[in-house]
Amino acid sequence: MASVEQAPAAAQGGTGIPVENPATGETIATLPTLSASAVKALVARARAAQPAWEAIGFEERGRVLRRAQKWVTDNSERIIATIVSETGKTYEDAQLAEIMYAAAAFGFWAKEAPHFLADEPMKSANPLVKGKKLVVRYRPVGVVGVIGPWNFPLTNSFGDCIPALAAGNAVILKPSEVTPLTSLLMAEGLRAAGLPDDVFQVATGDGATGSALIDHVDFVMFTGSTKTGKKVMERAAKTLTPVGLELGGKDPMIVLADADLDRAANAAAYYSMNNGGQVCISIERVYVEAPAYDEFVRKVTDRVKSLRQGRPSGPGSIDVGAVTFPPQLDIIEAHVADAVAKGARVLTGGRAAPGPGMFYEPTVLVDVDHTMSCMTEETFGPTLPIMKVADADEALRLANDSPYGLQASVWTKDLRRGEQLARRVEAGAVCVNDAQVNYTALELPMGGWKSSGLGTRHGAGGIRKYTQQQTLLVTRFAGKRDPHMFPYSKRVTKLIGGLTRLLYGRGKRA
Ligand code: NDP
Repeated sequence: MASVEQAPAAAQGGTGIPVENPATGETIATLPTLSASAVKALVARARAAQPAWEAIGFEERGRVLRRAQKWVTDNSERIIATIVSETGKTYEDAQLAEIMYAAAAFGFWAKEAPHFLADEPMKSANPLVKGKKLVVRYRPVGVVGVIGPWNFPLTNSFGDCIPALAAGNAVILKPSEVTPLTSLLMAEGLRAAGLPDDVFQVATGDGATGSALIDHVDFVMFTGSTKTGKKVMERAAKTLTPVGLELGGKDPMIVLADADLDRAANAAAYYSMNNGGQVCISIERVYVEAPAYDEFVRKVTDRVKSLRQGRPSGPGSIDVGAVTFPPQLDIIEAHVADAVAKGARVLTGGRAAPGPGMFYEPTVLVDVDHTMSCMTEETFGPTLPIMKVADADEALRLANDSPYGLQASVWTKDLRRGEQLARRVEAGAVCVNDAQVNYTALELPMGGWKSSGLGTRHGAGGIRKYTQQQTLLVTRFAGKRDPHMFPYSKRVTKLIGGLTRLLYGRGKRA
């Protein structure tokens, strides 16, 4: 394993980035910003190490991943402490959505990679290939560049690194400059699990480091904002490098009048405020049918008012942590101010909480509409705007009135109606009477529609994207010359015409 993570900034040909604890404002580390030439050198090392990693096969790679799984569970307290220190999130948010996810993911991909990437024998109806062996196989692309965001430094980066490694690729991870420490700790874990040198490396740095990575790798897996995702795709176009994009969301929650309002209110409070609302699949806006509106708003507001916010100090200490990324606080404040200026009411919260550290009070907004940025742009904070609608059709129209299409939820006791409505929502994943937990089912594809992304993670597609499909056709029994080969003759041409009519010409005329 390369020791780039331990090297001083100067040795990496770059400058230093301070890493802050957002809950205290203290600087907890300074790390190198890798230059473009340093990134190029990392990729060269990865490229040299990759063939041997591919050659050892699924079983041996699986052994390494299972040892890494054990390392994660054995070192969970250390990893949680690192995540909490660089994100300011609660112990519970780090435990449930990061440790549990990563531990599951190492086992899942170790077990499933050989199945998802097994050779697929194919049959074809075309008589030209009758009797031939037809196979689709999956070959690792080589070096995968993973560029990760700051909201889930373990889940959102390693959720992609693990399947890329399981497929036989070398991986270079560029973590967010805001939260690089978890990635460096995980590099230590992978080394302890026996991952060969240079198969996984961390390129610490800023946007320019990420951009440089795109130029040299064989696939770019990017998780982050839609704005940066577009830049990544544009850069990748220069080298025709394929990209996977997991981008922003503005997830709607639709509450029908017959919903279990206690469950819906608990879920609305939790799935909009967990991880401080800094979840790509956070509930970001709610549409409630008029008959249930008052009761729902009261129940949600009661729950949100009781949330404890502050500096996390271990299990059970607080419910809502810090805002991890300083500019995010400005966005949250701007969305709430814009809503209030246009007539929204704040039922609880509505302002930044006192420091040290960066906090925004858990906030419920009502009397909102789609002229307000809090209903149309990603807020990514502990805010919940709730809008009254006449009926399910209006809720659906408003839910789909968005450039995003990541995830959504529908709440009703009528499961048939709920599922029908879910199928009409323009989003990559829709839950009925639930939210977010679909992400933990690694068998289910996860990916955004519209401006929320390109491609999927999880499921077969979540690993096949790190491979190139190769078609193999093997002719076993054949004569010296097939009838369609040169020289052309009238007789064969007529025969082929007749065969075409026989095979495909029997349909009814329109
Ligand atoms: P950003 O888009 O700001 O950054 C993501 C990563 O890209 C960071 O590592 C960043 O580096 C890097 N980067 C910045 N500029 C470039 C560039 N020009 N070329 C290559 N890489 C670059 O996202 P955030 O970190 O702010 O993450 C929050 C966003 O991520 C939200 O929109 C959220 O919805 C989305 N997200 C989506 C998920 C999904 O699965 N769909 C999951 C989680 C988050 P640096 O930080 O050092 O600037």
